[in-house]
Amino acid sequence: MPRKKYIKAERAKKLEKEMLTCTFCGFCKSVCPYFEDNQWDPSVARGKVILAYGLARQEIPADDSVVQRLYQCTTCKDCERRCPSNIRVVDIVEAARADLVEAGCVLPAHKKVIENVKKTKNPYGETAAVDFGVPIKKAEVGYFIGCTARYRQPEIARHTISLLKKLNVDFTLVDEVCCGSTLQRIGAKEKDYVRLMKANVDAVKKLGVKKLLFTCAGCLRMFKEQYPKYVEVPFETEHLVQFLARQNLKLKPFPKRITYHDPCHLGRHLKIYDEPRKVISMIPEAKFVELAENRETARCCGGGGGVRSADPQAAQRIASRRVKSASEIADIMVSSCPFCVSNLRFGNEIVKVDIEIKDIAELVDDLLVT
Ligand code: SF4
Ligand code: SF4
Repeated sequence: MPRKKYIKAERAKKLEKEMLTCTFCGFCKSVCPYFEDNQWDPSVARGKVILAYGLARQEIPADDSVVQRLYQCTTCKDCERRCPSNIRVVDIVEAARADLVEAGCVLPAHKKVIENVKKTKNPYGETAAVDFGVPIKKAEVGYFIGCTARYRQPEIARHTISLLKKLNVDFTLVDEVCCGSTLQRIGAKEKDYVRLMKANVDAVKKLGVKKLLFTCAGCLRMFKEQYPKYVEVPFETEHLVQFLARQNLKLKPFPKRITYHDPCHLGRHLKIYDEPRKVISMIPEAKFVELAENRETARCCGGGGGVRSADPQAAQRIASRRVKSASEIADIMVSSCPFCVSNLRFGNEIVKVDIEIKDIAELVDDLLVT
């Protein structure tokens, strides 16, 4: 019989006291998208807290099932909203993941992601450059495309570029590399994502950019929350929806029912809720309808935290529930993150409901009157 592997788990150990405040009340069960999907207690927040505690105390070995459970989390943060003990579940999960990776316990899909970023500077392993027809030059405004819009949803980047041109914004693209979000979420080594942070900040600084715009909620969260912990960020960062919300947009009438999916990174993590709704409210004749779970209570699309790569079937099932709810009230579901849009479209491959799923950049560009 192979010997059980107990790991050091130094990072999780630092959060041990917080883990002990879990009362096992189970409130987290009511919101966790993973628990909703598999109804398995170790997959819910309290289960992961117990597993992380066991790893930290060297009472639970890092066997395959423990590793698998600790990666059944999209880092959506919804459980934290419900937790009466205010446990930072996402920090605990990410600390335990970093301990697992350091001990060599890496899921095969994530090993590939880490290798891809090392070799190609993007998690998808893409080597061919994508030409968006915009020069990299000195400008006060920069657009950070992000790997998902660049390699998987390029129409979102193209619409954003078109939109910025129509609004006469003098902007530049950036000689960017992956923002590092995926690596940090899956527990990859700190030096691997700090290297990316430095490369991105240097690339932006070189162009004299004062404001960097994002269409990816995950990239923006990295620059706002994580980059300043490791590197000086001498420029402003904001999401395209924040920029658009301040414009006096002249949009064509669009007599459809529109709903909005709050990306977890933009919503619960960065608290940006009003601006996308303000932008949608500028569309003449459109009827905005809220999903029952919106803003702070929005359900996750299911793709984040390394779930889409390690457990694509779960990511797809979780997304399919969100898309189905949207289809019951709206003709079009808009979001403001290429990764959410991609995963929601993936989810609709299961339920095949009659709804359009679009990024807000695509919708606004389609309707903008020039
Ligand atoms: S809501 Fe918080 S305290 Fe209650 S079981 Fe979940 S993690 Fe523990
Ligand atoms: S962060 Fe989201 S997926 Fe992870 S345990 Fe909490 S509710 Fe579940």
